Amino acid sequence: MTRTVYVNGEYLPEHEAKVSIFDRGFLMADGVYEVTSVLGGKLIDFEGHAKRLARSLSELDIRKPMEDAALLEIHRELVARNEIDEGMIYLQITRGAPGDRDFVFPPEETEPTVVLFTQSKPGLAESPAAKTGIKVISIPDIRWGRRDIKTVQLLYPSMGKMMAKAAGADDAWMVEQGAVTEGTSNNAYIVKGNTIITRQLSHEILHGITRAAVLRFAREAQMKVEERAFTIEEAQEADEAFITSASTFVMPVVEIDGAQVGQGRPGPVAHRLREIYIEESRKAAI
Ligand code: PMP
Repeated sequence: MTRTVYVNGEYLPEHEAKVSIFDRGFLMADGVYEVTSVLGGKLIDFEGHAKRLARSLSELDIRKPMEDAALLEIHRELVARNEIDEGMIYLQITRGAPGDRDFVFPPEETEPTVVLFTQSKPGLAESPAAKTGIKVISIPDIRWGRRDIKTVQLLYPSMGKMMAKAAGADDAWMVEQGAVTEGTSNNAYIVKGNTIITRQLSHEILHGITRAAVLRFAREAQMKVEERAFTIEEAQEADEAFITSASTFVMPVVEIDGAQVGQGRPGPVAHRLREIYIEESRKAAI
């Protein structure tokens, strides 16, 4: 089945979808994105993603091209046309294609570029990696200072994943001034006893939609939550570690820079949070 994608008001077979070479997303990474998961053919936390998208656009003074209801309609249409049961919807909005290259923002009337496509991932909820856990390495965080804006400027995170692969690991945690900021494409956590520790919100990290949900569920399940920075050494000595993101949900981390975390197996807290997150998300999906 040929994938149907959405580009600037049209549903097209993927090979017919085109964006201008002058698009600011292409020339300057001048765009933002969102990834929303699909379970059972329904969208997980669409409202959270739509809110963060609006904030990213507003922080960059990119015009919001349509209302949330219209965005939701496109997400649903793509899920239906591509028969997605489990997977993701990728959405990208750029400042548009003014017809030339210039550092100055284009005129007001330039239409933002809007692209959405589906990624089918059967078995997303039953990920084998969740049963064994993943290994991470640490790398310096050399990204820009507004990581709370979800821009398509993903070169360094992409390089970080490659550094992890080269080291025989699965992902990298980024470290700034001695403390972990976040993973290349996820938020980072450690567990000590009944307490979950994750970095506080600021411009230094992306405000994960999964993070917000998982912390809410953790508090509801009487776990303690501490929002503060932690070091790699503290993480290596913790009882458990894990990451969260829209596409991995809650994923246990069992090794950090070659040191085993806890028993070197996924721990009970990460396991429980993953179960709660998937169950509650399925219930609330739209
Ligand atoms: N941090 C970074 C740097 C990310 O790229 C992502 C995923 N896009 C996250 C955290 C997790 O955010 P979310 O839970 O909204 O997917």
